[in-house]
Amino acid sequence: MDITQKLHTLKSSLPPHVTLVAVSKFRPVEVLQQAYDAGQKIFGENRVQELIAKYPLLPSDIQWHFIGTLQTNKVKYIVPFIDTIQSIDSLRLLKEVEKQAARINRRIRVLLEVHIAGETTKHGFGLGECLNLFLENQSDAYPHVIFTGLMGMATFTDDTGQVEREFARLKGLFDEIRQSGRGGDTFTELSMGMSDDYPVAIRNGSTMIRVGTRIFGERKM
Ligand SMILES: *Cc1c(COP(=O)(O)O)cnc(C)c1O
Repeated sequence: MDITQKLHTLKSSLPPHVTLVAVSKFRPVEVLQQAYDAGQKIFGENRVQELIAKYPLLPSDIQWHFIGTLQTNKVKYIVPFIDTIQSIDSLRLLKEVEKQAARINRRIRVLLEVHIAGETTKHGFGLGECLNLFLENQSDAYPHVIFTGLMGMATFTDDTGQVEREFARLKGLFDEIRQSGRGGDTFTELSMGMSDDYPVAIRNGSTMIRVGTRIFGERKM
């Protein structure tokens, strides 16, 4: 199957409330253009240098999502055009996004990345820390940030039960924030699920999946 077919097969298998972010890291612009021509408008990238090299070469109605580790000193390069930063993993980074967005008078959509995996290598907010940000009204301190939801990555394991529990924990936090009303009307996205675990994620309440390999094939990195 070529990219067009893979995209259509994947999209037609998704429930209507689930948004697909095509993860295009390490793929050349021709490949992204092909996916765009097949109707895909949302792309995810995880490196600033690569993203700023690609975006001027592609159609301007693409919604770019940043999904990787973001260094605070690089925030300024992406705020002028980024649609959503999915990987806000610390208050320090959140503050820098607020600062840079204010500077150019833009409001940036963000997802808070929450640490749900067993491994210590994956970063993000603790569940309690994330909840408090809303319950203690700390989120009011970021007028140039639109909090659109949460993002999480499960442990890389064949143990589906574990993956399921990790996603369910994030869904629980998401619901708690929504029920508190402190996330506002815009707090609607739960980004979880990649090529290997997106069906489990969707079963557990995902509204947004981030898929690369299943669309574009195996990556070198
Ligand atoms: C690379 C990446 C993905 C996509 O991974 P695939 O296994 O290729 O689908 C999703 N989310 C994040 C944060 C990634 O870095």
